[in-house]
Amino acid sequence: MKILVGISRVPDTATKIFIGADGKTIDEKGVKFIINPYDEFALEEGLRLREKFGGTVVTITVGPDASKEVIRSGLAMGADRAVLIKRELPFDSYFVAKNIANYANQFQPDIILFGRQSVDYDSLMVPAMVSELLNLPLVTIVSKLSIDGNRVVAERDVVGGKEVVETTLPCVISAQKGLNEPRYPKLPDILKAKSKPIEEIEPEETTPTIEILSMEIPLRSRKNKIVGDSEEEIAEIVKLLHEEAKIL
Ligand SMILES: Cc1cc2nc3c(=O)[nH]c(=O)nc-3n(C[C@H](O)[C@H](O)[C@H](O)COP(=O)(O)OP(=O)(O)OC[C@H]3O[C@@H](n4cnc5c(N)ncnc54)[C@H](O)[C@@H]3O)c2cc1C
Repeated sequence: MKILVGISRVPDTATKIFIGADGKTIDEKGVKFIINPYDEFALEEGLRLREKFGGTVVTITVGPDASKEVIRSGLAMGADRAVLIKRELPFDSYFVAKNIANYANQFQPDIILFGRQSVDYDSLMVPAMVSELLNLPLVTIVSKLSIDGNRVVAERDVVGGKEVVETTLPCVISAQKGLNEPRYPKLPDILKAKSKPIEEIEPEETTPTIEILSMEIPLRSRKNKIVGDSEEEIAEIVKLLHEEAKIL
């Protein structure tokens, strides 16, 4: 089975984010970058499919040279090789999708796995655009996947429940948390990853169709109430937690 997995480089979710001097981008100074957490579920699923059916897992990333660090993390998890479509920022979701679709046209994967969303810009657009560009079925937000022959059954998280859908290979899947438990690479895997190949490809340029005008970090206002700790005041705290904070 030929498995292609989209890996996006995003700021560590524990990093404090600052807006750049242009007011439109994230200031990357001092920011630690990681594999987009949803992409770890996608990659883990790809590795499990390879374990079950045999084949090759290739990761693909559209991004700057600095993406190599997170690409190595994907190789350490077990991907066979990686592709970097090298381009400095900024670029938009369509640029990413178009370049992934171009590569998929050559590689002809049986399945393309993505995360459900990139946790930096949160567009949720790349999987849908790739499926449209390749004219392949798409199942999003998948929390369970089973494949038998070319029949694919996927469980999707929907509000208040699950939806089970069926499609056929080749297809595009976007992974939800809970699809699996991503493995932690062991030291020998991390060392082995250093010698796995990263193929660098020149991108096809696309015309940007949207422009970011501004970005801002929401201000957090604290509304503290000091009540006290007498018996009556504790009853008041419970009432406030129930009626105002609505957490009891
Ligand atoms: C106008 C514009 C300007 C931008 N400028 C910047 C900038 O200056 N700096 C910056 O850091 N970002 C910038 N971005 C965001 C950056 O281009 C995003 O990485 C890109 O748009 C894809 O993220 P998404 O939110 O659309 O992904 P989503 O559609 O939310 O991602 C879903 C899945 O698609 C896959 N995927 C997403 N992105 C990639 C990727 N790059 N490579 C491989 N797979 C991927 C992953 O599997 C991911 O889980 C900009 C975006 C726009 C629209």
